[in-house]
Amino acid sequence: MSKKIIVSNRLPIKTKIEDDDINFISSPGGLATAMKSFFQSRKALWVGWPGLTSNQLGDNREKLTKELESKNYSPVYLSERDFKEFYYGFSNKVVWPLFHYFLQLPDYSEELWKAYKRVNHKFCEAVLEKAKPGDLVWIHDYHLMLLPEMLRKKMPDLDIGFFLHIPFPSYEVFRQIPWSREILQSLISSDVVGFHTYDYVQHFLESVFRLLGYESNLGEIIVKDHLTKVDSFPMGIDFDKFNQSDKRKRVKNEIKKLKKEIGGQKVILSVDRMEYTKGIIKRLEAFRDFLKKYPEYQEKVTYLMVSVPSRTGVDDYKYLKRKVDELVGSINADFGSIDWVPVRYFFRSFPFYGLAAMYKLADVALVTPLRDGMNLVAKEYVATKKKKDGVLVLSEMAGTAMELGETLVVNPNDHQAMVDVIKEALTLPKKEKKKRNQIMRARLKRYDIKSWANDFIASFDQVKKTEKELRERQLSKKEKKKIISHYKKSKKRLFLLDYDGTLTSFNKNIKQVSPDKNIISILKNLAKDKKNNLVLISGRDRKTLDDWFGDLKINLIAEHGLWIKEKDKKWHLIENLQDDWKESVKEVMEIVVDRTPSSLIEEKEYSLVWHFRKVDPKLAKVRSRELKNRLFPRITHENLDIMDGNKVIEVKNAGINKGRAVQQFLNGYKKDFIFAAGDDITDEDVFEVLDDKTYSFKMGYGFSKAKYNVSSIQKLKDFLRDLYK
Ligand code: UDP
Repeated sequence: MSKKIIVSNRLPIKTKIEDDDINFISSPGGLATAMKSFFQSRKALWVGWPGLTSNQLGDNREKLTKELESKNYSPVYLSERDFKEFYYGFSNKVVWPLFHYFLQLPDYSEELWKAYKRVNHKFCEAVLEKAKPGDLVWIHDYHLMLLPEMLRKKMPDLDIGFFLHIPFPSYEVFRQIPWSREILQSLISSDVVGFHTYDYVQHFLESVFRLLGYESNLGEIIVKDHLTKVDSFPMGIDFDKFNQSDKRKRVKNEIKKLKKEIGGQKVILSVDRMEYTKGIIKRLEAFRDFLKKYPEYQEKVTYLMVSVPSRTGVDDYKYLKRKVDELVGSINADFGSIDWVPVRYFFRSFPFYGLAAMYKLADVALVTPLRDGMNLVAKEYVATKKKKDGVLVLSEMAGTAMELGETLVVNPNDHQAMVDVIKEALTLPKKEKKKRNQIMRARLKRYDIKSWANDFIASFDQVKKTEKELRERQLSKKEKKKIISHYKKSKKRLFLLDYDGTLTSFNKNIKQVSPDKNIISILKNLAKDKKNNLVLISGRDRKTLDDWFGDLKINLIAEHGLWIKEKDKKWHLIENLQDDWKESVKEVMEIVVDRTPSSLIEEKEYSLVWHFRKVDPKLAKVRSRELKNRLFPRITHENLDIMDGNKVIEVKNAGINKGRAVQQFLNGYKKDFIFAAGDDITDEDVFEVLDDKTYSFKMGYGFSKAKYNVSSIQKLKDFLRDLYK
């Protein structure tokens, strides 16, 4: 049976070694908490770093490994240097700040990037030691973005999922990373790539499109022979655990204790890691000015501030801690009294029961990060409260805001709004609280942590199904043999062959070099056989086709079906056409070309082509749309067609296409073997007019009206050679 393997930078436990005694404590943090239930229910294996560097481990490595393995944890050991350069370094000095839009902070040094690659390799080795083809590997978070591709290369038959727990930035920000393409290329080697929100999905797809050139369709990207599904899976929480927490004795005791300490005060709560993205300073400043602006709340409100130590070895974090300490000190000094401490500040983490008691007690929770992938505290707070009590103040910059829009949503950079929203939260009528909380609680209960994990895993089925369909479309050896045998027996054969992208790869320049000897030889050999009738179909102009193939005994179709030249005859137009529309269409195209660097117009006798192969894909998309909008009124009026080709838009007389042109060769006389091949959308018109006895082939992967796919040009050429051999 296939295994499930979770991979994350850290194992969900902290290891403590004292006098050779090994102890484990569970670690706080969204990922650890969330995946633990998945881990236990699926009896999975978890690969990750146990939290101690090689130096700290001493000679305990073997013993620790044994203990961990008995709990289904598989350790990856990091040296001091790995920890410094990979964890503190690339992960937290480059990816973390950049993805959270702290653009001044990243340190783009080559050394850190090398360390990132090195440690991702270590993880790859560790997974490969345990994995077998067919296993499902679920990789978590920004530390391991190179792992999908490494694993795919070494063990192609793994099911690979990647989930990013932090935001994915917009293209403009992401492209700043010098290794952006490598990172994307690796991520799309996964079968499923998940993000918390739809926005992050859009940012990711845009980066893939603009940096790698892959288009997506409903979140699916076809990369060669592989399909990647990109989707949003907003992470949930263990709703029942938080909702039922007040029934636990320890939680009850904790609530009693807290109540005694705080007295009858209103309680405002915040819980987050000591982290610059969490907006702690801005929140404290807002609380200070709230006390100033609304002095009636002095001595009546206590702010419980939990700051969990995080990345304490990094300078930016040490600096933040100093600033927070100072600010808390000054608020308490300025406003406090013998009986009242305005800010009760804890620089430590709390176990579940302590946290649940605080959620239970707090009248208001302030979750106001400057940017946050999701934020589970917000959800946990809402789940813990009963219907009528508790008000969540939530930053619109947190992923959670997409789901908890019924809360009081605030922009953490808007100081006045932050000050006033505290007052609003403290005075929100009960009826209002009830209305808002009810909706949110129902949502959190429905899409809880189990649904999240199940949903992610279930999406593999869809990917596998589509991949299977794609694979089944590939021409098999058996089918090929059958076709060859049919060929040998047949007496009257027709070949309909597209040129660019089918017999030869696209050349970046439209003024292309002539075809290589190889292609000419294949065409000559096929044409030599009296039973064969060959039609070469192209979007190119007559002259080029004449120069290249004029000497061969074959039929030619030029300009996507506009011109036809039957063997040994002259070129003729498919029908009588007008070209008096060209001047005005060209004027419109020129306006677009002027504002689209690297694009150009090709003028043919009866058509105009706008080429945008070298244009940034996103700009090309916008300009294509614009061009079509501008041309639209003329199209019906002058009986024209706009054709979307491969990086081109062609305007021509209506009703002219490759399909119509090949009709001439299909009509009239009977054939007992038809072979058609093409690669792009213009060839679909050919496939459309063929019946199901035809052998039709689309190049590469992807769905088409053709019967089969052929993975490469080389394979198609070999096939054609095998026919006449
Ligand atoms: N947490 C905890 N003890 C604490 C503080 C936080 O167990 O003292 C847990 C909290 O319950 C939540 C997680 O840590 O599940 C924090 O996740 P969140 O998404 O809010 O922030 P992150 O730390 O992942 O950025």
